[in-house]
Amino acid sequence: MTKQELRKQYTEKRLAIPDRERRKLDDLLLINFQQLDIPPFVETVMSYWPLETKGEVNTFLITDFLEFRMPGLQLAFPVSDFTNHSMKPMLVNDDTDYVRNEYGIAEPVNCPELSPKDIDMVIVPLLAFDRMGYRLGYGKGFYDRFLAQCRADVFRLGLCYFEPLDALPGIDHFDVPLSACVTPATIYEF
Ligand code: ADP
Ligand code: MG
Repeated sequence: MTKQELRKQYTEKRLAIPDRERRKLDDLLLINFQQLDIPPFVETVMSYWPLETKGEVNTFLITDFLEFRMPGLQLAFPVSDFTNHSMKPMLVNDDTDYVRNEYGIAEPVNCPELSPKDIDMVIVPLLAFDRMGYRLGYGKGFYDRFLAQCRADVFRLGLCYFEPLDALPGIDHFDVPLSACVTPATIYEF
């Protein structure tokens, strides 16, 4: 199967999960995440606002837990530029306002901009991943570009309702693999 066929398959598979089942999977995923060894240098985390229309994993459960365990945690959200498929990390707090962009993604407004080098951990959205830690994104390469600007030691975390594929097709030199991926069943470290 091609990357594009897999994108379609995993988009449909994820959207087909009933709400009740999804909440159960989010809980199981959180329980596994709580067992993950996070590097001690992690202080600044870039997450993303999960799109209900795409059935994305509930990242808020993960970042709420991180904030609880690390009271000094700094949280950032990306602001995307669709003209050049780039992203800027913006520092948010409890008072931050969010506005939906034309793609329905909630983005923070009036926030200080960080450098990609300031980010210690990125929660990377994905449709699927493989046993080598490669991820299938939405196909625009936003995160491959962003991760290329981050420090080499940035912790790249994937969250996925499904177990890994043996090997994703069409992996290229610009595809940045994950450091770890947590599923409702298992923790994968790469
Ligand atoms: P995704 O990672 O979203 O699944 P792909 O890995 O297929 O999507 O990448 C989509 C496109 O993004 C590629 O065709 C490639 O040209 C571009 N791209 C990815 N990473 C970079 C990069 N670091 N610099 C420039 N272009 C990139
Ligand atoms: Mg890629």
